[in-house]
Amino acid sequence: MNTRSLFRLFSSDLAVDLGTANTLIYVNGEGIVLNEPSVVALHQATGKIEAVGTDAKDMLGRTPNGLIAVRPLRDGVVADFKVAEQMLTHFIHKAHKRKRFVHPRIVIGVPSGITQVERHAFLDAAHRAKVSEVYLVEQTMAAAAGAGLAVDEPYGNMVVDIGGGTCDIGLLSLSGVVYSRSLRVAGNTMDDAIMLYVKRRYELLIGERTAERIKLEVGAAEELDEPRTVTVKGRSMVNGMPKTITVTDGEICGALHDCVSSIIQGIRTALDRTPPELSADISERGIVLTGGVSLLRNLDNKIRSATGLPVSVADDPFSSVVRGTGKMLEDFKLLRRVCLN
Ligand code: ADP
Ligand code: MG
Repeated sequence: MNTRSLFRLFSSDLAVDLGTANTLIYVNGEGIVLNEPSVVALHQATGKIEAVGTDAKDMLGRTPNGLIAVRPLRDGVVADFKVAEQMLTHFIHKAHKRKRFVHPRIVIGVPSGITQVERHAFLDAAHRAKVSEVYLVEQTMAAAAGAGLAVDEPYGNMVVDIGGGTCDIGLLSLSGVVYSRSLRVAGNTMDDAIMLYVKRRYELLIGERTAERIKLEVGAAEELDEPRTVTVKGRSMVNGMPKTITVTDGEICGALHDCVSSIIQGIRTALDRTPPELSADISERGIVLTGGVSLLRNLDNKIRSATGLPVSVADDPFSSVVRGTGKMLEDFKLLRRVCLN
């Protein structure tokens, strides 16, 4: 055994899914060791970081004066460069606390739409966190690998990864991205649509966390066979007082209609641009959904009836990307072919 592979044996390599809503880290041999919201709380005046991850998410919408909670990757692009870097560094350190002295190799799944400059920022951040080798891969490629698709075979695979900030549609074949498109319509836009609906229909202001709760409890892409309701509180726009309302899945289905239609339109466009041979593969193998929003009730049914194609939701769709980057850590040949840098 040469020194290099001996070193590998004792080092613990990391795979990272840097999502707009959640960051996950997988360690070789240990599994997923970190799963926290991609949120940072900062002092507005100084920019000093107060909290990162779960602690910071609890502050969203309820920060005291002078503090703000931000999602640095809000729309799949790096909305706030410095903060995104610091968040990544924080998470790497946290995941790697146990083995301070070993410099790991790291694979990071990054949003498909990021610029060259942003890629360099992540490479630098990882290097500063004392990582020895850094590889960036596209999240759609990682999502497909994590969902169990054979991304290195000469067949077309379509994966639609719908997270907090973006819906990423990828057509993959032979370890390459044949077509990819990132829509800014995903979980956050759905929350916004729910806030707007509640405001118009009930003259009630609710925060984004309450809107998300409504989506999780009663959200659906098509009305449910067994109706569901949820009761939430907000501030009345009429008298400024706290007020409680109960909303149904039917109402929320209506509020989400435009978001769902945009996603379906994006999938249609991708299918339209698919080369004929690959198109035949997709009609047989279908579309795989990953990301948190793939759990929206009846979304798979709706896409199935809109496209006429088989549609399935990945097992544990939240972790598809991190499991895919984890596979790449273990399969260096595949990593070489798919990495961006
Ligand atoms: P990202 O990859 O952008 O970090 P995730 O894949 O972690 O995002 O998905 C987060 C999004 O999924 C959030 O907008 C969240 O509200 C949404 N989500 C989570 N569970 C569900 C569910 N059961 N139904 C609908 N949306 C969901
Ligand atoms: Mg994601």
